[in-house]
Amino acid sequence: MEDYWIRSVTDDSTVRAMAAVTTSAVELARRRHGTAPTATAALGRVLTGAGLLGVALKRGQTVMVRIQGDGPLGGALAMSDAVGSVRGYVANPLVHLPLTARGKLDVGGAVGRGTLQVTLDLGLRVPYHGSVPLVSGEIAEDLASYLIVSHQIPSVVALGVLVAPSERVMAAGGLIVQVMPGADERVVAYLEERAQVLPAVTSMISRGQTPEEMVDAVLGTIVSRVVERGPVRFRCRCSRRKVQQVLISLGDAELREILAEQGQVEVTCNFCSARYVFGGADVEGLILQMHNGHGIESESETAEQVPPQA
Ligand SMILES: [Zn+2]
Repeated sequence: MEDYWIRSVTDDSTVRAMAAVTTSAVELARRRHGTAPTATAALGRVLTGAGLLGVALKRGQTVMVRIQGDGPLGGALAMSDAVGSVRGYVANPLVHLPLTARGKLDVGGAVGRGTLQVTLDLGLRVPYHGSVPLVSGEIAEDLASYLIVSHQIPSVVALGVLVAPSERVMAAGGLIVQVMPGADERVVAYLEERAQVLPAVTSMISRGQTPEEMVDAVLGTIVSRVVERGPVRFRCRCSRRKVQQVLISLGDAELREILAEQGQVEVTCNFCSARYVFGGADVEGLILQMHNGHGIESESETAEQVPPQA
């Protein structure tokens, strides 16, 4: 099955659901970052969670989910938008822990205790930041906590990543069901009951169930209709041009110093592990541009996206 997401709502708009299969996107992220299984599961859950929050947005708006914990993973970050483009990374991609007593990848142990932070850039002057303490570090519960604490929206959140012994991602995806203000009180109780008996997301996806079927599985007798669907892609927004702008912003003295020390200037994108290498002639070209006044014009995001690793 191709990766895709859906957004569906009930006729009275009091319950809305987002669901996605993200297997290929998470597998691509794993290969790009070279993550070990526990880190793969954490990365896949954060990417999927951000992707699901993203599809509730309008075009041009973005969401960032940042997990900061005291566990060996050292944190995770994912960004997404309204069209299902996700990108992200974990601080320590090689983290792999023994399975939990229930035979699961120990994402909570890898994450540890800390906070989950969500930044919504809705195109307003100031982005919205919300932050909650981690409940378990398993990410789905933490996102549910964020939605109720920061937005007062009771939500069922399920995220899952199944990693094969070969370390390949076999299944990944998730769903978020939200009870909006004005809903019948019994709806929350009903959905809580449904969440208890909902099969694991990865079992549903491994059986070939679609996002539509996953939504039906959690909603039970509540009827919803799909209002939007689209592809999920692991896609970064970095480019050689954006990296050049970052390098220009460093100034010629620093560029020359790095060049003298390392023989070249190399930048690796945090979000996708793409490597950009600039040789001596490239750097001289950039310095020339700098002095011709073709300076910094890129989006503010660039600096965060591609910090030079000197
Ligand atoms: Zn990138």
